[in-house]
Formats: sequence, structure tokens, C-alpha cells
Amino acid sequence: MLDGEVASAFCGKERLCRKIKKMDIIAPLLTIAGFDPSSGAGITADLQVFAAHRRFGTACITALTVQSTQGVEAVHAVPVQELEHTLECLQKDLPPSGIKIGMLADEGIVRAVAAYLRKLQPRPIVVLDTVLRSSSGAYLLQPSALEAFQNMLLPQVDWITPNWLELETLAEMSVTDRSTAIQAADALGERYPSLNMVVTGGAERPPHDYVRPAHGQPFWLPGEHIETRATHGTGCAFSSSFLCELAAGKSATTASAAAKHYVAQAMQQAHVRGSGHGPMHLLWPMTTAY
Ligand code: PLP
Repeated sequence: MLDGEVASAFCGKERLCRKIKKMDIIAPLLTIAGFDPSSGAGITADLQVFAAHRRFGTACITALTVQSTQGVEAVHAVPVQELEHTLECLQKDLPPSGIKIGMLADEGIVRAVAAYLRKLQPRPIVVLDTVLRSSSGAYLLQPSALEAFQNMLLPQVDWITPNWLELETLAEMSVTDRSTAIQAADALGERYPSLNMVVTGGAERPPHDYVRPAHGQPFWLPGEHIETRATHGTGCAFSSSFLCELAAGKSATTASAAAKHYVAQAMQQAHVRGSGHGPMHLLWPMTTAY
């Protein structure tokens, strides 16, 4: 996809944020996220998304969850020292050219990830999927970690991808329709002036996303409802795909549309598995569903 020496990556519609070199494309993308044993969400899903975009991925586990397509039954955060050690070890040998952050579980993990990002000079592009609760309602970030999440992490990432419920919590405003979603995103944007956002509306009808670059024109990304039970980990897949596209030098407009298309196809092409919300077919660009 990138044959030339250098490509340009745009954070907003027009604004040039950084140059991307060929080496950046060969360097791994890192996912810092939870482990979902049913493989619909979390790091195993993120690595499939990276592979589907022909990117090599490394992973730092933040938490072990016990879950299936029927929901999350338990969450066990990884000891902070292990997480710090993993990030340090990977950074020395396999520094990433892009980072996706997902489930963070508790305050200790939030602080450790924020400290890791602070040390990166220059910092690669970071997409934070603001995972707060699973669709079955389990806390994937303890409420006591929210303050550190907002104060220490949000100012250090390039993009966040909240759904309506997450936007509500972060903006402390009720989000009930598209106009209140815009108001809440604007309020959050005032608090974090350099934060770019994609407010995902996958659970809404129609499932339009609202893309709000920090510098540039916001716009609605249209979606069509897909009738399927293969919806587990849609947020994880969108944010990982979006990172792949941005890290390859795509503009926010192109990257968000490509990521939305990728997730829609992954839902559409999936075999339905399990009795609840099943996994998608994340490797669809490479193979038919298996
Ligand atoms: N488990 C892990 C490890 C996750 O990272 C996530 C979402 O990011 C989920 C579960 C929740 O997935 P869903 O929202 O599809 O329930």
C-alpha cells in the first residue's frame, strides 16, 4: 500500500500531523488490552484485525477475563509490575509504530500505561478504545479508575472511539440521540482540545458514527443496520482497524470509512457461533469464513 519513501498521516481532515516512513509500516502495531478466552474481543481479536490489515502485531495483556458469547463472568487484572515489564521488554526490542489501547481494568493499569506513553519520544500514533463496560454490563474498567483515565490517559492519546454510553460517562452528559451525542462530544472536545474522536453508533439505528477531528470539520459516517448475532467485540475491531489505517498514512476520513466497512463485512461474513453475541469473521480480507 505504501511504495514510496514517505506518506503523510492526517489527524484531522486537513492538518498534517506526522510523516510516515517505510520503517513504520514494517514495525509492529501494539495492542494493550484484555484477554477474552472466547476470542471475540480483546487482544486475540486485535491481533487478527492487525493480520487482516497485513500488519504484524505485539500484545500486552492488561487483564484476564472469564467470558463466552453469553457475557463476562470474571475479570482478573494483571499485576502492574508484569504489565510494566512487558511494555519495557517490547519497547526495547520491538518498538511499535502505532498503539491501540483497549480494556484497562483498574487504576494501577491506567497509571502504568499512561507512564509508558509519557516516556515514548517520539510517541507513535495512539488510538484509545474507551472500554468501560461490556455489552453484558460487566465493568471492564473499575469506576474508581475513571479519574486517572480522564486526567492521565486522555491527554496523551490521539484518538478515542467511545460509544454513546462511554461518551455519556466521559462527558458527564446524557446522550439519547444524535444531537445530544454532538453536544457531549463538543463538551469533551472543549476539555481536551487536541483529542480526536470517533463516537461509534454501532448499537444505534441507523448505526452512524460521528467523526470529530480536533482540528477540522466533524462529519457523520453513515452505517447500515446488519441483522446478526455476530457482534461481539465490534468496538475492539473498529478501533484496531482504524489504527491500522491511520498508521498506514490514511486521512481520518478515509481511515474511519475503511474501518467501518471492515467491521460491517466482518459481521456480515461471520458464521454464527455460541448462543449469545458471537465473534465476527475478522480475517475476511484473507480467507472465507471457517
Ligand atoms: N472483553 C474484552 C477483553 C474487551 O476488550 C471487550 C471490549 O473492548 C469486551 C470484552 C466487550 O466486548 P462487547 O462490548 O462486545 O461485550
